[in-house]
Amino acid sequence: MKAEAAVQEMLDGQLRELHLPTIRSSYEEMARQAEQETLSYERYLLGLCERECQERRLRRIERLVRQSRLPLEKTFETFDLKRLPAKVARQVQSLREGDFVTRKENLLAFGKPGSGKTHLLCALAHALVQQGRRLYFTSCNFLVQELLLAKRDLKLSRVVKRLDGFEVVLIDDLGYVQQSREEMEVLFTLLAERYERGSVWLTSNLPFSKWESIFKDPMTTAAAIDRLVHHSVILELNLSSYRLEQAKKTTETAADAG
Ligand code: ADP
Ligand code: MG
Repeated sequence: MKAEAAVQEMLDGQLRELHLPTIRSSYEEMARQAEQETLSYERYLLGLCERECQERRLRRIERLVRQSRLPLEKTFETFDLKRLPAKVARQVQSLREGDFVTRKENLLAFGKPGSGKTHLLCALAHALVQQGRRLYFTSCNFLVQELLLAKRDLKLSRVVKRLDGFEVVLIDDLGYVQQSREEMEVLFTLLAERYERGSVWLTSNLPFSKWESIFKDPMTTAAAIDRLVHHSVILELNLSSYRLEQAKKTTETAADAG
C-alpha cells in the first residue's frame, strides 16, 4: 500500500515537472477505466495524451481570443451572410481558410457606416483565431493614441515590435475622426514597418480618393495606399446601413400589425 502511495507521489511530481496537468489529474480515473475495459497499455497512454493535447488546444484558443481583444459577440453566428453582395460572399468563403494571412496579404473593407465592415472583419478574425492564428483588434483611434504615447516615451519601436507578434493587426475605422499630422505619422510608421511582414486588416468609410484628408499630404497618402494595396484583398460593401434596415423592418411590422 505504502509503495503505491509513493509511486503516486513520484508520478505527481514528475508530471508537474513535465507540465502535463491534464494527465496528472486524469491518469488515476482513466487507469481504473482502462482496467475495466481491459485496454492495452498503449491505448491507455493514447487516451491520456489525447486529453492533454485537447485541453492544451482549448487553452491556447482561449488565450488567443483574450489577446485578440476582439469584440466577443461579432462572429459569423450573429452575422447574416445573405446580406452580402454575391462577390463579397464568394471572397469571404475563401478568406475564411486563412491562406492569405500566411501570404501576409492585407484585407481592406470599404463601405458606408453601418454596412457591416467591422462585424464582418471581426467574424473573419474570430474564425481564424479558432484555427489558432494570432490576431489583434484595435480601433484606429485607440491605436494611434497608443502609438503617440509610445513615441513620446521613445518606445515606438517596442510597440511596433509587440504588434509584430501578431499575424494580423485589424485596425477598425480608419479616418473616422479627423486626425492630426502627428497622429497620422505614427500610423504611417506602423504601416510601413508591417509592409510585407504581417497582414493588416482595415475598415474605412472613406474611399482611397478621400484618404488625403487622413494622411494630410499627397506623398504620404500615396505611399500608404501603395503599401496597403500591393498585396491585398478589397471588400466593397455597397450596402445600406444594417441598423437602419432593421429599424425600418420593425416599424413596417408594427404598421402591418396595427
Ligand atoms: P460598419 O463597421 O460598416 O459601420 P458595423 O459592422 O458596425 O458597420 O455594423 C453596424 C451594426 O449592424 C452592428 O451592430 C452589426 O452587428 C450589425 N450588422 C451589420 N451587418 C450585419 C449583418 N450582415 N448581419 C448581422 N448584423 C449586422
Ligand atoms: Mg465600423
